[in-house]
Amino acid sequence: MGCKLCGKEEFYKGLCKEHYINYFENLVKKSIKKYSMLKDSEKILVSVSGGKDSHAVAWVLKKLGYDIELFHINLGIKNFSEISLKEVKKLSNILDLPLHVVNLKDITGKTIENVKKKHCSICGITKRYLMNRFGYENGFDVIVTGHNLDDEVSFMINNILNWDIVHLSKHDPVLPAHDKFLKKVKIFYEIEEELILKYALAENIPFTTAECKYRKDAITLRHRMYFNELKKYRENIKLQFLHGYLKHKDIFKVDDNFKFRECEICGMTSAGKICSFCRVWKIKKNFKLQSQI
Ligand SMILES: [Zn+2]
Ligand SMILES: [Zn+2]
Repeated sequence: MGCKLCGKEEFYKGLCKEHYINYFENLVKKSIKKYSMLKDSEKILVSVSGGKDSHAVAWVLKKLGYDIELFHINLGIKNFSEISLKEVKKLSNILDLPLHVVNLKDITGKTIENVKKKHCSICGITKRYLMNRFGYENGFDVIVTGHNLDDEVSFMINNILNWDIVHLSKHDPVLPAHDKFLKKVKIFYEIEEELILKYALAENIPFTTAECKYRKDAITLRHRMYFNELKKYRENIKLQFLHGYLKHKDIFKVDDNFKFRECEICGMTSAGKICSFCRVWKIKKNFKLQSQI
């Protein structure tokens, strides 16, 4: 059996490579429209990690004609950060897009390797802070990340297990800008990881499959496994769970009148006196955030 549209050799989901690429790009276009994710005039910063998801974000947004630049953080993880940076540079060359790289070590004097525990949560705080600050200081309107449907539902389950109401209130596909926080968008919010992988392969997008060595301990990887197991019984379980969340998310609403302030050290928006980035990295005075490339 060949492609259901043209009869050529099947690549995935009953479609040839060319028709699969079309199908995937249409899915992304539909999501962008459905959730009013992006405007044509917006200057977009895409945070790229070296992996397939964020690289596919940059690839598809460039093909769809959006105004984007790339941002990468060198976390200084042995055997991982070097490989990631190499793939990121390849991507920026092929797409002919500006690439901004910041080194965690230049800013904090340390790398993720120097952290003793909670690597994934500190890594998350670090990435969110640096991409937001870089985007904010350099005139970008929006940050797009590579989070996909599998990420979203596994993080949601994790936040439910911890009854983390604050984070449960933030699983939207679009988080609007406020104070010094830029708007954040997940264009793959409704798209499964496997579809993104097939797209990356079909388009020959450069990416690394190297995994961060700390990630294998992450419990969210187990949640992904349960979902894939449940999917055998109910094909649409991930999307149903996600849409159920969107329908009922008001039950997780946090105080709208909460007043953010400015971090006493770096001046960025913070819930407390010192922001979580300055706190975890024990930053004593403000720094300049400059990119290397
Ligand atoms: Zn075809
Ligand atoms: Zn701070």
